[in-house]
Amino acid sequence: MAKFDAASGYRPETLSVRAGQERSQFGEHAEALYLTSSFVFQSAAQAAKRFSGEEEGNVYARFSNPTVTMFEERLAALEGAEDCVATASGMAAIMAAVLAHLKQGDHIVASNSLFGATVQLFNNILSRTGITTTFVSHTDSAAWEAAIRPETKLFFLETPSNPLTEIADIRTLAAIAHAKGILVAVDNCFCTPILQKPLEMGADLVIHSATKYIDGQGRVLGGAVCGPKKLTEEVFKYLRTAGPTLSAFNAWVLLKGLETLKLRVEAQAANAAQLAAWLEAHPKVARVFYPGLPSHPQHELAKAQQKNGGGIVSFEVKGGRDQAWTVVDHCQLLSITANLGDTKTTITHPASTTHGRISPEARAAAGINEGLLRIAVGLEAVEDLQADLERGFSLI
Ligand SMILES: *Cc1c(COP(=O)(O)O)cnc(C)c1O
Repeated sequence: MAKFDAASGYRPETLSVRAGQERSQFGEHAEALYLTSSFVFQSAAQAAKRFSGEEEGNVYARFSNPTVTMFEERLAALEGAEDCVATASGMAAIMAAVLAHLKQGDHIVASNSLFGATVQLFNNILSRTGITTTFVSHTDSAAWEAAIRPETKLFFLETPSNPLTEIADIRTLAAIAHAKGILVAVDNCFCTPILQKPLEMGADLVIHSATKYIDGQGRVLGGAVCGPKKLTEEVFKYLRTAGPTLSAFNAWVLLKGLETLKLRVEAQAANAAQLAAWLEAHPKVARVFYPGLPSHPQHELAKAQQKNGGGIVSFEVKGGRDQAWTVVDHCQLLSITANLGDTKTTITHPASTTHGRISPEARAAAGINEGLLRIAVGLEAVEDLQADLERGFSLI
């Protein structure tokens, strides 16, 4: 079969549906789901060669599985990465990327507005292995440089940030890191390769929670680490031994998710842009956070590194928690859930959910106030979303 990889020159639309597919002797048109934990060998000698790595091929599904490999190759093609290693979840991808490249005594500089579980992982789990983290302002590149120590091995960021959609400057941070031989990992969950290609801007590794936009329909957990083979090889070695591998079934679901990724992400971003503009003009809204709006403080930087504003819109309802909760509680269409990237629009009150465990002072310092709501825009008609929000707005 022809290879449709990143080097083939095919466009993202084509790669989304073609890249990575390996057809069996049965000639199936759709990608096959290989539910098998192990693979048989033709002889003892072949088994020995497969185990030693002298001969390429599948051995055991903790190491590789053809359905998982198809997903990896398709995502790598979309990210423009030489290689991709799939993991059981987004958190497993972050853990694998860090433990593959860092050891006891090493240091991470990370954004102070990372996904909550990532902060917990760095502070409460990785710290036990002797890997320490300094958190710095997401948008202040000089603070990243100032936090570098001789033992700093990794810059870890996520852009736009959740829920305030602040933009970290990938090109500038990569230049600062590389001047000191430090690796840069970007969690590209919010934008996906459809809107942002961190590797092209100097990142060394791209990390995904495939659970979000890549599945896009709220069905399975998955993750991935993409980058040059010399870096992903270490991630693979960690994974085959430590075990947080992506299951074949989840890989098959995610592989089919990739086929519609571009259509979904672009349609969701267009809906989000329309909703953000409507919210900004709404008399009950104090402020809107959306990188696609000219009022966003980093609108120009956002335009320079991502294709559009993306699918996540946050806004402050005038008043505080009561007013914000009134809007949430009168939604009949928007789902009250913290998940994002789904075709179904979701709404969440960060101060009492995703950021509820942070002290009120720290929350205020991070700019997450009691009136803030985050919407992850789906594929419904924007007019229907507006009518759903208006029900609550009209009561406050
Ligand atoms: C959800 C999420 C993760 C974690 O992914 P899981 O698949 O839930 O483990 C990591 N980073 C970001 C930005 C996320 O939104």
